[in-house]
Amino acid sequence: MRFITEFRRPELAEGLISQIHHKSKTAVRLMEFCGGHTVTIFRYGIRQALPKTLEMVSGPGCPVCVTANADLDKAIALSQIPDVIITTFGDMLKVPGSYSSLQEAKASGADVRVVYSTMDALKIAEENPDKSVVFLGIGFETTAPTIAASILMAQDKGIQNYHVLSLHKLCPPAIRAILDCGEVRLQGLICPGHVSVIIGSHPWESVARDYNIPCVISGFEPLDILQCISMLVAQVEKGESRVEIAYRRGVHPEGNREALKIMEQVFEPCPAQWRGMGEIPGSGLKLRGKYRHFDAELVFSIVPEPACEPEGCICGDILRGVKTPTDCLLFGKVCTPEHPVGPCMVSSEGSCSAYYLYGGSFGE
Ligand code: SF4
Repeated sequence: MRFITEFRRPELAEGLISQIHHKSKTAVRLMEFCGGHTVTIFRYGIRQALPKTLEMVSGPGCPVCVTANADLDKAIALSQIPDVIITTFGDMLKVPGSYSSLQEAKASGADVRVVYSTMDALKIAEENPDKSVVFLGIGFETTAPTIAASILMAQDKGIQNYHVLSLHKLCPPAIRAILDCGEVRLQGLICPGHVSVIIGSHPWESVARDYNIPCVISGFEPLDILQCISMLVAQVEKGESRVEIAYRRGVHPEGNREALKIMEQVFEPCPAQWRGMGEIPGSGLKLRGKYRHFDAELVFSIVPEPACEPEGCICGDILRGVKTPTDCLLFGKVCTPEHPVGPCMVSSEGSCSAYYLYGGSFGE
C-alpha cells in the first residue's frame, strides 16, 4: 500500500471493520493520544463503524491545545518588547491566552510573523540584525529536532539575535500522567505515529508493561487506524499488553537516531506545564547550558500577569479524556472555529474543532 488512495479503499476498510466486530467481545475503552488521529477518526466516521463494545476517547495529542495559558502569556509578553520579532507556526496565532492572543498583539502593532519552518525564522534574524527574533518552540518530539537544528545552525553562522521560547512537550510522560491519575480507565492506547517516527517504539514499552495496557503505534490514514484498532482488540481479547507497530512504513523500533542525537545535543528534559494536567516532571525540553544564550526566557525578563482560563471552557478536561466537547455549554453556540473560545476549537487537530466540523454527536 504505497499510495494514499490505497489507505482509503472502502473494501479494505470493510474487511478490517468486520475483523474488529468479529474479534471484539470485551467492553474496552481506547484512547487515541494524537489530534491527527482524532481528526481522521471523525472525518471518516470510524467511531460509528466500530462495535458497541469499543469506546473511543480522545487524548491530549495536540501541541497547540496542551500549551498552558501561562506559557502562551509569556509569548504574548515577549511580543510587547520593543525590537522583538515573534515567529511562529500559524496555528498559535488565534489561540487565546489569559488576556489576549498573538493575533490581537499583532493587530495592536506587535511584530508577529507566521513562518513555515525554523529556517524562515533564522532568515528573518539574518535580515534584521538590529532586532531580536524569537521562535516559539511549540510541539512534540516531532518538531524538537528541527528546532534543535536551527539552534546549531545559528551557532555555526554566528547569528546572535535568534532565540527560542522552548515550550516543547514529550508524549510518553503525559500518557503516564493520565494513567497515573486514574480518572479515565483505558484498556488500549493508539500511540502517535509522527512522534514515534522520531522516538521509535521502545519508549512505549514501559507504558505497556507498567500499566498492563496494549500500545499500538498508528499512521494517520483511515486504514492505518482501523488496522491499529484491530491489533489492539486482538491483544485485549488475548489478555496481552505489548507494543506493536501498525505504522511500519514510518516507524522503526529505534526511532530516528540522527534526529534523537541532535535533539539530545541541544535539549535536556525539564518539568513542563500542560493545559488541564498541570506540571508533569520530565515532560518538557529546555536548552542545555551550552546553548542557553539562545533561550528567550533567559535572555528577556518577562513576568506575565497570573494566568487564567477562558470562562466556561473545559479544554483541560477534554485533553485528559474526562469530558467530550459536547459536554461544554459553549460548544457550537458561543465557541465555533470562526470565534474560538479555547484552544481545542482553534487548532485544526483540536477535539472541539473535529467534533464541530465532522459531527458533534458521533460516537456519543
Ligand atoms: S467548545 Fe470551546 S470553550 Fe468549550 S471546551 Fe471546546 S474550545 Fe473550550
